[in-house]
Amino acid sequence: MTKWIYSFGAGQNDGNAGMRNLLGGKGANLAEMSNIGLPVPPGFTITTEVCSAFYENGRKYPSDLKDQLNEAMARVEKAMNLRFGDADAPLLVSVRSGARVSMPGMMDTVLNLGLNDQTVEGLARSSGDPRFAWDSYRRFIQMYGSVVLGVSHHRFEDLLEQTKRELSKDDDTELTAEEWKVVLKGYKDIVLNETGTAFPEDPQDQLWGAIGAVFGSWMNPRANTYRKLHDIPASWGTAVNVQSMVFGNMGQDCATGVCFTRDPSTGENVFYGEYLINAQGEDVVAGIRTPQPMAAERATPDQNPMEKALPEAYQEMLKVRDLLERHYKDMQDIEFTVQSNTLYLLQTRSGKRTAAAALRIAIDMAQEGLITKEEAIARVPPASLDQLLHPILDPKAERKQLARGLPASPGAATGVIAFSAEDVEDRASKGEDVILVRIETSPEDVHGMHAARGVLTTRGGMTSHAAVVARGMGRVCVAGAGSIMVDYKAQTMTVNGHTLKAGDWLTLDGGTGAVYLGRVPTIPPTLSGDFSTLMGWADSVRRLGVRANAETPEDAETARRFGAEGIGLCRTEHMFFGPDRIGHIRQMIMTEEKGARARAIGALLPFQRDDFAALFRIMAGLPVTIRLLDPPLHEFLPHGEAELKEVAKALGQDVEALRARRSALSEANPMLGHRGCRLGISYPEIYAMQVRAITEAALAISKETGKAVIPEIMIPLVGTKAELDLVRKASEAVIADVLKEQNATLEYRIGTMIELPRAAITADKIAESADFFSFGTNDLTQTTLGLSRDDAGSFLPDYVEKGLLPQDPFISIDQEGVGALVRMGVEKGRATKPDIKLGICGEHGGDPLSITFFESVGLDYVSCSPFRVPVARLASAQAALAARKAVKA
Ligand code: PEP
Ligand code: MG
Repeated sequence: MTKWIYSFGAGQNDGNAGMRNLLGGKGANLAEMSNIGLPVPPGFTITTEVCSAFYENGRKYPSDLKDQLNEAMARVEKAMNLRFGDADAPLLVSVRSGARVSMPGMMDTVLNLGLNDQTVEGLARSSGDPRFAWDSYRRFIQMYGSVVLGVSHHRFEDLLEQTKRELSKDDDTELTAEEWKVVLKGYKDIVLNETGTAFPEDPQDQLWGAIGAVFGSWMNPRANTYRKLHDIPASWGTAVNVQSMVFGNMGQDCATGVCFTRDPSTGENVFYGEYLINAQGEDVVAGIRTPQPMAAERATPDQNPMEKALPEAYQEMLKVRDLLERHYKDMQDIEFTVQSNTLYLLQTRSGKRTAAAALRIAIDMAQEGLITKEEAIARVPPASLDQLLHPILDPKAERKQLARGLPASPGAATGVIAFSAEDVEDRASKGEDVILVRIETSPEDVHGMHAARGVLTTRGGMTSHAAVVARGMGRVCVAGAGSIMVDYKAQTMTVNGHTLKAGDWLTLDGGTGAVYLGRVPTIPPTLSGDFSTLMGWADSVRRLGVRANAETPEDAETARRFGAEGIGLCRTEHMFFGPDRIGHIRQMIMTEEKGARARAIGALLPFQRDDFAALFRIMAGLPVTIRLLDPPLHEFLPHGEAELKEVAKALGQDVEALRARRSALSEANPMLGHRGCRLGISYPEIYAMQVRAITEAALAISKETGKAVIPEIMIPLVGTKAELDLVRKASEAVIADVLKEQNATLEYRIGTMIELPRAAITADKIAESADFFSFGTNDLTQTTLGLSRDDAGSFLPDYVEKGLLPQDPFISIDQEGVGALVRMGVEKGRATKPDIKLGICGEHGGDPLSITFFESVGLDYVSCSPFRVPVARLASAQAALAARKAVKA
């Protein structure tokens, strides 16, 4: 016989906290609390297996459920010395849903079930308080009517408001028993009119109706949507908890409340909670009366803290707080009721908390000896650290949302709108906070992005130019807010009937992707001592190295401050856009004459040398991987006529010829075109200049600091060993020249990006010529899935919503596809060269889920944007701990 029902309370506890899957979170914890001797009103849990059986059998219950339920009910009746449906001493129960994880959207709670026209009289007699009895009855009809029978709760509330108006009474508590009887009759009429059936008087019908409503709500559209969004399988089912009622609304020695064992917003180790005297559960959340603080030290003089009003129950609660925390080893969110000065516990669960609180609680609990350091590391969600590193919107501030895009780079920014990089710089130089608004950004906008507080684009995904660059710089970015129309000519943006001009205020929340009208105040980040304590603990357990993607000195400094152990990717093209450089780059590209090209490249050499020297200096002996030029040249082309004329003048060529060259350089598919090492093969002098600059800078800084700099030169977009061989040979020749010139020696490494499927597939061959691999998972995702990283944002959300992809593969690595290529690259690379250094520098390097995968394939390090370095340190530590646990098990 399958056991469908598990009892708890009054000395019989069939379940425990470990039985969450079968009993749901609420049921398992009720049994557990009772197990450890806490006062839990007796009741029982109908298991999640009943829910599954109910759906598998065409919404029918298992045949023996009824007998088991009657037996469990008889036990509760005996324990309470009451009887369900009895006119003299009626047992009343609550019915609540309770899945494995708490799930909004499902039927929640029905209280006072078992009341009808007879039992209400019994309750009036046994309690000696007819007013209480009739108030309880009308509450039951209201709750059952709305959550089980589907009558809009406004119908009941409107009637109650109207009655109070007619009686000139402000508060529910002022209504007499006789007055409640009138309201109750009105409620019953509402039910009859709305549903066509009279309110069920038989308690058995009421009970089965409520149980059916809980199971039915498991499959309602809201619950289905929530499950889809949170990857909760429908097969889990929900449990139902039936529990004898205790009353917090039977007089001034009764109360009900909700509390947290620590402050859920700061994590401070103080008892934090609210309660209401003479009230039932829903009154605390309904907002009709203002709940009062529990602790006297948290109360203002006009408040009535529980510590003073119900001192005995409060002292009991302090003991419960201590016991539950020590038992569960986590901050708890507790619901309780006090009936005639006796305390009862109705729920405990791990409490939701802010990122700051999660951090503080984990550290404090480890220091209090409640949990281990390893457990503390595992407790803090890595992604939540983002909240601590950037300014956030003031939670108290009012706001009006205009649109929503992708949360491309976290933090909050508020400023005036500028539609071009130049306008941003102009305004910023006058001390204004500026938001750059573009349809999409290109490398030319980088200086404007740098000067801006935040960036908003209307097109592009999570690895679009705007997103990647903004994350790298720690600028706030909302990308791909497609409902906004930008008109550069008119200098306006239009959305939902609002038209904003350049200079108008706008606010971005890069953590949620929300765009707000006007100026919403922000509050600065607080990097407390707890933060560095946790980081230290994480570093002591992680195996993966953590480097940063950085090219400017500012980014490199940030990266070090956040604990990066080197630079894993310096995208040299980002260094080409300074006003003192772009002219030379354009001349280099636009001329077909070798001498002119050599002159332009020669002019760039000192700039590049200084750039690299600055990075080597900041990184002080830590590894620095510098990637040779990668993007298609068209990204640097002069756009407008004025720019074209400037280049023509510098080159001494006519504009027409340059115009022709410009169109010759344009490509239909530039991301699959003339880029990466293909450029270095066509224009070897560009790479030669870069390699010379790297070598000269490394020698100079080695000399300056007395510490050896070991540069890592990285070749992009390699597909074959032959390509790498060619570029490597040319690079080594340049290095040899420089060393000869300076009569010096230098240790260096030459490696490659693995970012094309062919490179991963032939990694054994490529490894023969590479000292290291760095997986470029942005391009590898783009080329493996055949998805444009710049355009896919327009339809990928649909794919995720329809379940065609588990998540955006540019955010979290597609383990099955792209991940298989990474694994293959690792295995083949190591087969050829066991000690080859293996890293990843795509955006996935800062994504916690992807980091777990990189740990499992045995990479040596991840590299990510500077602001994600702490996230990666913590995620790497968690991945290492999980891997160790798996080995032990
Ligand atoms: C990549 O492709 O993953 C990479 C790191 O290079 P980029 O994003 O510059 O193409
Ligand atoms: Mg790439």
